[in-house]
Amino acid sequence: MSDALTQNYIDGIWQDSASGSTFKDINPAVNSDVIGQFPESGVEDVDDAVRAARKAFQTWGKMPAPARGDFLRRIGDIMTERKSELAFQMTREMGKPFFETKGDVQEAIDTAYYAASETRRLFGHTVPSEMPDKFNMSIRRPIGVCGVISAWNFPVAVPTWKMFPALACGNTVVFKPSEDAPHSGALLVKVFEDAGLPAGVVNLVQGSGNTGRALVEHPDVNAVSFTGSTETGSKIGEACGRMHKRFSLEMGGKNPMIVLADADLDLVLDGLLWGAFGTTGQRCTATSRLIVHEDVHDDLVSRLKEAASNIKIGYGNEEETEMGPVIRAAALEKIQGYITIGKDEGATIALGGKRAEGEGLEDGFFFQPTIMTNVTPNMRVAKEEIFGPVLVVLKISSYEEAVSVANNIEYGLSSAIYTNDIATAFKAMHDIEAGITYVNGPTIGAEAHMPFGGVKGTGNGHREGGWEVFDFYTETKTIYVDYSGKLQKAQIDNVDD
Ligand code: NDP
Repeated sequence: MSDALTQNYIDGIWQDSASGSTFKDINPAVNSDVIGQFPESGVEDVDDAVRAARKAFQTWGKMPAPARGDFLRRIGDIMTERKSELAFQMTREMGKPFFETKGDVQEAIDTAYYAASETRRLFGHTVPSEMPDKFNMSIRRPIGVCGVISAWNFPVAVPTWKMFPALACGNTVVFKPSEDAPHSGALLVKVFEDAGLPAGVVNLVQGSGNTGRALVEHPDVNAVSFTGSTETGSKIGEACGRMHKRFSLEMGGKNPMIVLADADLDLVLDGLLWGAFGTTGQRCTATSRLIVHEDVHDDLVSRLKEAASNIKIGYGNEEETEMGPVIRAAALEKIQGYITIGKDEGATIALGGKRAEGEGLEDGFFFQPTIMTNVTPNMRVAKEEIFGPVLVVLKISSYEEAVSVANNIEYGLSSAIYTNDIATAFKAMHDIEAGITYVNGPTIGAEAHMPFGGVKGTGNGHREGGWEVFDFYTETKTIYVDYSGKLQKAQIDNVDD
């Protein structure tokens, strides 16, 4: 797998964009390592891809669902064989360490097998009729062509959360990866090709936000599934609303970890290191706010500072690396900007706060693990998504205050509480405003067969993963069969006034 796959994939054919224009993709840890030039696709390319998907829908949508499941199982098998190769290329392209990208691929494998199994139980309902000799049922129908637009931080897992259930339900797909992870997207689509997926069932168009916009606004795209920032998601939601399209938005987060005075601090420490600095803090579910009881605040912060300062930063394909770079130069600037904002607001930089330097870090976008203390709930650094290895620490004196601080935010994706008091843990499950709550575990981590998604500014009410995503990718059709042999008028014949 040495040559990059640098083309679009439309109707089963790898091809350049109509205009021939391209953009450059580089390794964020070793900037001199150019992964390739990828097509900057325009309206014409998107139109070709949507037409191919529409044509393929005629047969794919009618195939028995378990037969579609067989394709998904083959895809899962090939990803299993290629797990290490895929992970190496993903790390090279987006920076997180190899052990993390292997987990990313495994999540996609789990999703493939899970979606395949669901093709045997795309249940509808049968319910009694209110009339005699009449049969009522609902069945699921595919929607049509689905536009899939994803972020770069889970370049394989997140698009497959969308595509596999979409395909299982009989839809076809046009996929636009992030321009920071085009190669990972292409390698994923190559797996589909090698699994024998019929031409046009999944099409790949590379490009920027303009390509994504053309996909969202294409009149023959029936549904759009998006993962990315809240800002972009709002634009997509407006366009889809205007065009009466179904849309699912998975957006930003600012996830709290509440640590109460009775918590097991060793467990908390492990959870914080993984939650706050895993994926260099660039996860929608990253633990970005530590809300800690005053009785254990100083002890925990001092242990955390020591542990975080020992995190080994470097190129993720080197074995000892624990934390990779951030994705691009603009991300470094954004993070640095928030350090300044935090200082101006009165926060203390307890650790880090600068670009990471040293041997092996000269040619990449590396930032130090950073901890800000003396943060109060209404500071910008406590409310806005920084999307880097930055943890802000807020001190509280009660459970009630902790929940109020946790909920004082426009996002609501993931959350965590560490306590050994079972009653408090159960209260928190209901009190914290978030789509996910972990008890005694950090905010990150998702299992393929469980619903995933957020409330408030993080989402628009849909869920990925689990059984709920199959509702997004199907239309319900209600069917009445009247075998009475006469005209029966519901709500008229069966009610005596
Ligand atoms: P962006 O919103 O910048 O981009 C996401 C995708 O949308 C990219 O493919 C992008 O293309 C595309 N895009 C940009 N503008 C438009 C537009 N107007 N119309 C259609 N598509 C468009 O997010 P990032 O890539 O920076 O990802 C980071 C964000 O994603 C964070 O906020 C993070 O929290 C969130 N995220 C949420 C997850 C969740 O499940 N809730 C999971 C992972 C990340 P291009 O790349 O070319 O700009």
